[in-house]
Order: sequence, then C-alpha cells, then structure tokens
Amino acid sequence: MFTISGVRGVVGETLTAQAALQISASFGAWLGRGPVVVGRDTRPTGQMIAAAVFAGLASAGRDVLDLGLAPSPKVVFATKCLGAGGGMIITASHNPPDWNGLKFIGPDGLPLTEAELLTLRRDWSEGVFKPANWHSVGRILPGRLSGRYEKAIIDCVDAQALRKARLNVVVDPGNGAGSLVTPFVLRQLGCNLTAINASPDGTFPRPIEPTKEALSGLAEAVKASSADVGFAHDCDADRLVCVSETGEVLPEDMTLAIVLDSFLRANPGSVFVTNVASSSVFDDIAGKYHSKVHRTRVGESFVVQRMIETGAPIGGEGSCGGVILPNLSYTRDGILAAAKVLEALAETGETPSAVTGRMPKFFSVRTRLPLSRGDADRVIEALLERHRGEEIDTTDGFKLLRRGEWVLVRASGTEPIVRIMSEAQSIESAQGLNDELRAEVEETVASLRRDRA
Ligand code: MG
Repeated sequence: MFTISGVRGVVGETLTAQAALQISASFGAWLGRGPVVVGRDTRPTGQMIAAAVFAGLASAGRDVLDLGLAPSPKVVFATKCLGAGGGMIITASHNPPDWNGLKFIGPDGLPLTEAELLTLRRDWSEGVFKPANWHSVGRILPGRLSGRYEKAIIDCVDAQALRKARLNVVVDPGNGAGSLVTPFVLRQLGCNLTAINASPDGTFPRPIEPTKEALSGLAEAVKASSADVGFAHDCDADRLVCVSETGEVLPEDMTLAIVLDSFLRANPGSVFVTNVASSSVFDDIAGKYHSKVHRTRVGESFVVQRMIETGAPIGGEGSCGGVILPNLSYTRDGILAAAKVLEALAETGETPSAVTGRMPKFFSVRTRLPLSRGDADRVIEALLERHRGEEIDTTDGFKLLRRGEWVLVRASGTEPIVRIMSEAQSIESAQGLNDELRAEVEETVASLRRDRA
C-alpha cells in the first residue's frame, strides 16, 4: 500500500477508511504543528476517504484547511501559500476509478522524501499515536485561496503575448480535478477554448490514464475544430499530454521537451533535472543551449531534491509529461505545463508539429512483467553481472547504454512489477532491445524458480 509517492490501493480492499484515518493521524502527529491543507481528485470515493483523513488529522490536534476538489499541484501551492504545516492529497493519480490514495506534503511545501515516508509507515504500523485531548482536537475549516493559484500560473507566462495570439485549444481533463482549473486559466490567457470531459461528477467517460488510445476523442475534437493544440490530464492534473494540430497524440516526453526548449532558449546554460527513464531528447535540447542535465531515480521527490541541491530553475519527469518550475512550486504541474506550452507556441508562431519536428526523433517501447520486489532485485543483480564491462547506469535499477540507444529495467515503485523501457532511433531497434532484455529477465526468473523448487 505504501509506495515511493505515498499510499495507494483499491478502496475497500487494500485502502480502507480505517487505514486512511490511522495514517492521517500518524502524519498529523509527525508534522507537529500548523494546519494541514487537504484536497482531493474527483473519484467517487474521495469524499469518504476525505472524511477519514479529516478525522485522523483532527484527532492528532491538527486543524484542517479543506480545499475540496482540487488538482494535486494546487494543493501543493496552497500548502506553501497558506503557510500550512503540511498538506495531504487524496488521489490515485492515473490509476483506474476503483483506486484511491494519499499523498503527503511536508511543512516546506515539498513532497515527503523516501526516508520521511518510511518513518511515517513505521509510526503508523507500530501504532505510536496518542490522540489529542478533547479540548485540543483540530477543526475542519474551509481552505480559501481566492484565485491565487490561477493568478500565479498566469504570472508564470507572457500573458499579454498569449492574449494577442488567441490560440484555439481543446482541453480534455477526463472529468478529473483539472476540470475546475485548466479551462478557466486558459480562457484567462485569451484562448478560444473547447472543453470536453470537463464535468467533475465522479464518472469517467474515458480511461483516466491519458494514453494515446484513451485520447482518440480529444484527437478527433482537435481536428474537427481545426484547433492549434489539444491538452489532456490524468485525474489529479499533475500530468499533461499534448495533441498536435494534426490530431497526433504526442508522446508524454514531448510536453516537457516543448517547455524545456522554450525555457532554455530564454535562459541558456540553466541546469535541468529529470529522471533516468526520460527520453534522450532532453540531452539534445540541453546540449543545444549549453545546459547540464542531471538524472535521478524515478519519482518526483528525487527530482525535486536534486533541483534544490543544484539550484535548477526547471525540471520534470518526461515519462509523465510533468513540468516542475520552482518559481511556482516544487511539484509537477499539468496546468502550468499547458500554459507554458501555449507560451512556447505563441512565441514562435509555430505549430506543435513544427516545434517537435525540429527535435531528434526517438522511439520507445515499454513492457512490464509481474514480479515481486525481492525477485526484481535479484534480476537486476543478475543483469549487472551479465553485462559487466558494458556502459551501465545504476541510478535506478539497470540501464544499459549502447550507441545513443538505451534500455532500462527497474522495479516499479507502486506495483509488484518490473518495467522494461527502451529507446532508440527506430522502432525496430527499440523493440529489439526490449525483447533482448525481456528474454534475459525471463531467463533469470525461470532459474530463480528452479532453484526454489
Ligand atoms: Mg497524476
């Protein structure tokens, strides 16, 4: 249930109201002081989990500032903006509707580090929690931001240039938490906007994860309205996928690529931080503007920690279209990403196809195999042994680099699976690399099982 990004599970099975209450109580006690901002995505179980979270936090003596339905990045912004002691987000991000989860924000407005999450899990599992006295339990209060989040995003872009450009945009928040914010912000930026799937009513007309297949409706709408660009979010709107003017659903890395290219053009030499699973396209863009790229383990908190260490003004995780600009806050923000992509398009007057067409083209193949965490570790050890002497990166799992192509084998932080990701200049090479490593993983798993039998 605990993962590198918080707590996630199927409601009623691996995530219950009881667990949500107890974990929130442990978190409230761990925070020590100050109110806690709470927001949730649009899942039908959100209110029930929120009630448990409120009770847990209040029983630990924390006041709750309830934002109600809110995108994850808005909750992070509010934690800092309202000077809260911490924050909690009730979301399962891109997982299916039967899932829900909890994300935790520290007093500094930063996602909890791996070590902090381990402490929280230990506190919760050992039940080290003393409820507050009746006269010191917390209150449940409305969290009031009065439009400050939306204004802060608008302040991050050249709003005047955007209003002049009057871009035609279709946005598909998938009935997620972005439904409440993204259309509003884009209209404020002068866009001629069509919104589809923008009713936060707890139903999900398309799969929550914004994959190419899930976004056929958006692609059609972009073509039908001759829009300049289309945008889609996951349920908590920290992710953004772009659809080109031709109706092509662009790979998620391209969101960050478009924003990075425009950012570094204006700020050459800036440090950029991303994870080891993100496309090599970022090395090419950074190289063009004499910028250094730092690569971390997969997970927002690792990227954010390195951004703070290096003072990087931009970072993100390509594989989930997330853009992080510390000027707003240290979190992936899909709404900010949409505004920055529009700014990049308005700046040059180019179409999304033209902007991405200037970038080197990479093809990627992603596969997965069910595997326990322990077996995944053994598989990775075996791969390291087998490929000794070759160019290898061990930042997160096993990454083999060959003449500008690479393949990464790593244990998922949220599910009992290993992911195999490959990237190359042709789809055939990417598939070949993926097949090769997949066969090696399967071979090792078979021999582990033989040893056990
Ligand atoms: Mg998300």
